[in-house]
Amino acid sequence: MSHHTVLVTGGAGYIGSHACVELLNAGFNVVVVDNLSNSKVTSLNRVEAITGKLVTFYEADIRDKQSLSDIFSKEQPSTVIHFAGLKAVGESCEQPHLYYHNNVFGTLVLTEVMQEHNVKQLVFSSSATVYGITDKTQYSEDLPIGAINPYGRSKAMVEDILRDLAAADSKTKSDKPWKIALLRYFNPIGAHESGLIGEDPNGIPNNLMPYVAQVAIGKLPQLAVFGDDYPTKDGTGVRDYIHVIDLVKGHISAIHAFKNTQFISGNCKAYNLGAGHGYSVLDIINTFEKVTGRTINYKISPRRDGDLAEYYANPDLALKELNWKVEKTLQDMIADTWNWQSKNPQGYQ
Ligand code: NAD
Ligand code: UDP
Repeated sequence: MSHHTVLVTGGAGYIGSHACVELLNAGFNVVVVDNLSNSKVTSLNRVEAITGKLVTFYEADIRDKQSLSDIFSKEQPSTVIHFAGLKAVGESCEQPHLYYHNNVFGTLVLTEVMQEHNVKQLVFSSSATVYGITDKTQYSEDLPIGAINPYGRSKAMVEDILRDLAAADSKTKSDKPWKIALLRYFNPIGAHESGLIGEDPNGIPNNLMPYVAQVAIGKLPQLAVFGDDYPTKDGTGVRDYIHVIDLVKGHISAIHAFKNTQFISGNCKAYNLGAGHGYSVLDIINTFEKVTGRTINYKISPRRDGDLAEYYANPDLALKELNWKVEKTLQDMIADTWNWQSKNPQGYQ
């Protein structure tokens, strides 16, 4: 196992840094390519502290084909996990070109370089936001795609591109066909149990969990609960929260599954990574208060544009084909978020 090198794009980021820990623990060599546009290299120093192993780091942009190609020549990875990209929905509406350039063009350059170096195993960070609006609250992989904002559409476009790449190979009966796992994340939260790495958002967080954590520590005065009149159990929005460690373990399960029947002659397959049930915003607040002993100052506020009432994963396919399911509880996710937040009140600063 230890001779396998996994190249991790965006490996200095929130999910990527946790993936590096689990990959190193599983015996892979890890090479990170990150332009540090939304992260700090400190996260990788912490990864090394946690694991006692080294990460090879390149500060480079995945859209820089020459640099990327040089890295592939030197490092000879067998597999790529592709986290690099921009992820803020609001910003994607203001700067769509930036999002398509990073997420779509970036993936085109990456897969072109992979193709040229005959590296054809890829795990891609997709998102539950690729699912179109539907009456269903539980999402299975066969629901139609129909993202509603530029960020979501950039993920949906990349999924299409990757499906087309794999399909082209199966037509030509390539002797080393593409094996691609599109992992559709639900809501990743939490941090490594050491409290050394975690989510370090720039400025005021958009997402619920980092916002709650910053209210708890006194950096932000009050949480706005976006709507209490949704058709959900308590009127607030319901999401499928997944511990970031469970999430990154799903990536390792996907790499192992590249040897299994569904990938043997090449394939591109989507898998939901979620718990299979949801929690409301009030569940999150109440559990956070119980686990940490802190009080969360919150105010019921108007709905946020573009939010859905309730959705959660059907994770059966990932269990069946990747032999993966979540193991951690909401209490674990909150305790680990709080451990990270209280030990690093200013993030990686
Ligand atoms: P993050 O911003 O912490 O990590 C992304 C990393 O990619 C950062 O370190 C950034 O510097 C790097 N990066 C961005 N553009 C790059 C480029 N052109 N070249 C090289 N590096 C680049 O975000 P995250 O939360 O860790 O998300 C990782 C991936 O998972 C993203 O693709 C994101 O869209 C996807 N995802 C995240 C969530 C979530 O809620 N966090 C949900 C679904 C999907
Ligand atoms: N939410 C909220 N206040 C906030 C941020 C989020 O009430 O400051 C709600 C949001 O409406 C949704 C849930 O929390 O119901 C999760 O939102 P988040 O932005 O974390 O993830 P999303 O599912 O929107 O990607």
